[in-house]
Amino acid sequence: MKNAVIFSIGNELVEGLIIDTNSKYISEKLKLLGYYVLRIETLPDRLDILSERIRIGLSEAELIITTGGLGPTEDDLTREAVALAIGRNIEIDKKIADELIERAIKYYGKSPESVVKQAMIIEGAKVLNNSVGTAPGQIIDIEGKKIVILPGPPAEMMPMFEIILEDLRTDDAMYTRRIKTIGIPEAILMDEHKDVIYSVPEITVATMASYERGVEVRFTGSINQKEDIDKIANILIERLGDNVYATDDDTIEDVVYKLLKDNNLTISFAESCTGGMISSKFVDIPGVSSVFKGAIVAYSNEVKKSILSVPEDVLNRYGAVSEECVKIMAKNVKEILNSDFAVAVSGIAGPEGGSEAKPVGTVCFAFANKNSVKTFTYTLRGNREMVRKRSTLLAFDISRRGILEWLKLVKNTRE
Ligand code: ATP
Repeated sequence: MKNAVIFSIGNELVEGLIIDTNSKYISEKLKLLGYYVLRIETLPDRLDILSERIRIGLSEAELIITTGGLGPTEDDLTREAVALAIGRNIEIDKKIADELIERAIKYYGKSPESVVKQAMIIEGAKVLNNSVGTAPGQIIDIEGKKIVILPGPPAEMMPMFEIILEDLRTDDAMYTRRIKTIGIPEAILMDEHKDVIYSVPEITVATMASYERGVEVRFTGSINQKEDIDKIANILIERLGDNVYATDDDTIEDVVYKLLKDNNLTISFAESCTGGMISSKFVDIPGVSSVFKGAIVAYSNEVKKSILSVPEDVLNRYGAVSEECVKIMAKNVKEILNSDFAVAVSGIAGPEGGSEAKPVGTVCFAFANKNSVKTFTYTLRGNREMVRKRSTLLAFDISRRGILEWLKLVKNTRE
């Protein structure tokens, strides 16, 4: 198996100002491509340290990946450090430099001299185009080994890495299947289906439970075990039914977005305890405007009454955290914002505000379609942040299930 070393470069990483998410992403991908990641090193922007560590890495691994330190400023030294470590020249590529200058003039009206630094290319390197930012990446073949130089910002690094995936694949490439679920607690899921999940001992099983994403079961093995992995995954998917929301990289909000988009439908939200979190997550998806009408953040009772027309009597009798209240919120936000569906959420995120009948973590949800409104109440565990994030996850899951049910109903009516 080939070895790899990942270098995350930048003073801000070493100083603890930002968290290194690049290495996590790259390491996971390298495992599937068949590499053993020897180590991940976080290094400052220092030429001497960088070149020394890269030299050592190259003596132990077939693949070196660096991220960061490709900017135009003086402290961005990764290119120089790699050139120094492998004893190659580094020169400004005129064509890339001209493009960078042209771009700087277009955006800032002038081009700082330092911009051309990003056009410094190591002798023999293949240039990797940066589709998002400015600094190009580079890939260098050296005595059967590879050095890949990538930019620091994850949004620039990830698409560049995806393009070179196939170049990096080894004979030890792995195969993986992911099953993402909501609705069954991790311990129960693993216990009730252990006969399938652990049926082939050579296949690695990993589970990840998160209050933001639900429970994910992941099967990984060598590419030769593809057939067994697919078989196990497919049986589990069938058994878990509606609780499976995705079997790829999609998040729950991506799933809701695609369901709506594919069927030309729209949604809106009435948010109380989530305070806009559901909408904020949803608008992270590019293109969501075609399915998302908007939201009303009805945090106070006053807004629930005046904007969403929840009668005072309902608030007095049942309270703002009640199925009666969210039912009206969902129905009315759907009318006001003229959407096909609506979800309403009202809960007690804490730490104050709980009672014996409605403890902290009590959250009521409603899903409205054209004909009816369904309500749900959950008691969620955790602190304020966890309750709000879990409520957001559940709001999307309730939307997903509600839309699927609606589509089934429409299909049956047509048939
Ligand atoms: P730029 O041209 O934007 O300066 P760069 O390649 O020089 O790109 P850095 O200056 O090292 O990259 O980092 C820029 C930003 O990218 C950081 O402030 C941080 O937000 C993000 N970043 C860098 N490295 C990482 C990392 N390992 N994990 C997560 N984010 C990172």
